[in-house]
This record gives sequence, C-alpha cells and structure tokens, in this order.
Amino acid sequence: MRRGYKRWLAQIFVIFCCVWLASTVQGYSFDMVVPDVREPASLSGGSACPVAAHQLTTPGYIDLRWSTMLDTDPVTIITQDQTAGGQLNEIEAVITQSLAAWTGVSGTVLAPAAFAALARTSTQNACGADGINSVCFDQMDLAFTPGVLAFARIVTADRAEIVLGNETASSEPGQIIDADVYFDPDDANVTFATPQALPANPKSYDLESLMIHELGHLLGFSHTAVWSAMMFPYAPAPGTYTGQRPSAPRPDAPLSDDDRTGLRVLYTDLTDTAHAGSISGRIVPASPLSLPANPPGVTGVFGAQVVAVNAATGAVMAATLGGWSCAAPGPALFDGSYTIARLPVGVSYTVYAEPLNGVVAPSQVIPALDDLCRNSTTDPGWPPSQACIVPQPNLGFTVRTLPGP
Ligand SMILES: [Zn+2]
Repeated sequence: MRRGYKRWLAQIFVIFCCVWLASTVQGYSFDMVVPDVREPASLSGGSACPVAAHQLTTPGYIDLRWSTMLDTDPVTIITQDQTAGGQLNEIEAVITQSLAAWTGVSGTVLAPAAFAALARTSTQNACGADGINSVCFDQMDLAFTPGVLAFARIVTADRAEIVLGNETASSEPGQIIDADVYFDPDDANVTFATPQALPANPKSYDLESLMIHELGHLLGFSHTAVWSAMMFPYAPAPGTYTGQRPSAPRPDAPLSDDDRTGLRVLYTDLTDTAHAGSISGRIVPASPLSLPANPPGVTGVFGAQVVAVNAATGAVMAATLGGWSCAAPGPALFDGSYTIARLPVGVSYTVYAEPLNGVVAPSQVIPALDDLCRNSTTDPGWPPSQACIVPQPNLGFTVRTLPGP
C-alpha cells in the first residue's frame, strides 16, 4: 500500500507516514486529532476543534533511543568507517545532526533541551507502542510494501491520562505519546548511506535526509507539497540529498522555509517578533453551486494548498492546507478558511491556491485532512452537536486570483 493510513485503536490515534521512492504537493501540514469530548472536559478540554499532534517541550521530556542492531545480510546501512564502533558512531551522528536541524530553527520553543540524551538499545525490535520513541534499522514490519523506504508510526493521545507502557500519562489532547521510526531492513535493492559514505555509494539513499523527514513526523508533521521541503513525501534520488548539509552556523540548513514556518506554527515562541506575520482568508468558488451538497454545510473550497511566496524573490515561504476553521466547542466548519502564520515580518507576499491534483495527492496527507471530524459513526456515543463529516478535498477547481490593494 503506497498511501498512508491510520488505524483507530481504542482512544489512541495511530498515524503512519512514509517516505516513498520514485521521483518527485501541499505545504506544511500537521497530524490532527479531535479531542474525545465524550470524556469529561477535565480530560478532553471540552472542545471538538482539531488540535495538531505535538510533543511536550518540557526540558528532557522527549526521549529517543535507537537500536544498534543492523542488518548484515544484506548490509543496509552503509558507513565510511567500517569498524563496529565507528559504524555506530557514524550512524548516531546522523541522528544527532538530524535532531539538531529541527531544534536549530530560530523562533520556536522546541529547544535542544527538550530532548533527553540520545540512547542506544541492543534490542532488535525496539519499535512498538510502548511509549518509548525508537529508531529501528533492522525491524521488519508489514508497512514495508514496495516503494516504502522508511516510515514513522505516531501515537497521539486524544485526551489527558492516556498511558502507554510504563510511561507517564498524557497531559493533554494532541500530545504524541509514542513515535517510532523504521528504516527498511529487508530489500536487497535499498541501502542507506551516511553523509560520509554517500559519495562513494551513489546508489544508496541519503540516511540523513530520510532521518530528518521521519523526525519531522515524530514532531507532529504530516506531509507538504512543497517539493524542496524536507516533509515532501518522496525521498531524494539515490546519491543525492535534500537541501544543504547542516553546518555550525546553519544547523537547520537542510530544512526549507516551509519546514521552518511549520515548526514555528507548531512550537510557537510568542516572544519571536521576527516571525509574527500572518496571512489568512477564505477560498471560495465563483459559484456556490459548485460546492458539494454532501456533507451539508460546506461553504468553501476544502483541501487546497495555499502558498505564500516572497514577492521580491519568488521563494516559497510556506504553504498550508486550507479549507476549514473551528471555534470552541467545535466542530470544524468547512468554510474555505486558511491561515499561514509565523511568517517573517517586513516581507511582501503573493498568495495563491492550488488543488492537490499534482504529484502529491490527498492520500499523502490523510492525517491532516481526514482526522478533522468525529461523529457517531466513527465514535459511538459522540455528541451530535460536536459532530461533523469531512468533505472530499476539492480537486477540480481552477485558480483565479484578484490583484491585491
Ligand atoms: Zn513521511
């Protein structure tokens, strides 16, 4: 199966996201979850407005360990240093640097201190819904269907006091309580190389590019349609990497502005005045008759990619999925609304909308689109006043823009 899917497990959302191969959709987007308003407001918050999946940023809170068990037949992780210890250090450096790319973004509350010290485990199948975030290089999984190079399985709480394994109970809806990253260990045609080993192994995939992408899922990202972004759902071609390598002055260099803006939205630092810009509006069809009759109440275009471009340079600064809004106590309204927040101030922007009918399809952003509503069909006993049905993404519109003032 080449598309993402989700499973409903008791009161937990499990979200699955992959890096696909093949060559070359939508802007940054987040895995969303509707709090379980059947539970007391003290646990759910009382609102059925979707919340973005996220990690807690309390210092030391986000644990991460990686399994040192590596496949040797065939060797799937290729390092320059072939000694046993050197190989592990080289792989560990990739994980450390990939985390540093995300924590290196200015203007967020996701500080390096949010992560506990990176740990190793010798357990081969360390990945599982145990409340411990793990990276696995030699664990088979049914999700490894043809084309899937790596994926992350994310478990998000839809209320407080959900417990996985021996870990601390969740404290709020949207909190990611387990995130595991799997790399394909069992395809003789698929190998991953560290940055040091990639030049000599041009048929390998860049381990660092894929690691940064999967750690983006660990932080709550869904996919983006911005092709230069790390959260684009397709891996860079073998022997190549996305963006630039991180460097001391630019630890977040591999990320695109779309990734950075998404991170600032997800982990907003309200003291950051440099990225306090926000653009919002509604996408509506020329004729309301072109809106779907079902579900009822749809008053705008849903599932469009809205892109903010730096008017002076032409660079894509951020893009997001538009089409809905929500005010407590919910549910979401499908009114065509979009907001692109945390943009650099002092910049002029051009904004346009495009349908998700290109190389990135709605199936690749399922957690960001499908999880905006719950109702008595999905969840027995759901209160009707807070129920909704997600419409089909509108893929058929053509874009006309009106000149700004
Ligand atoms: Zn992905």
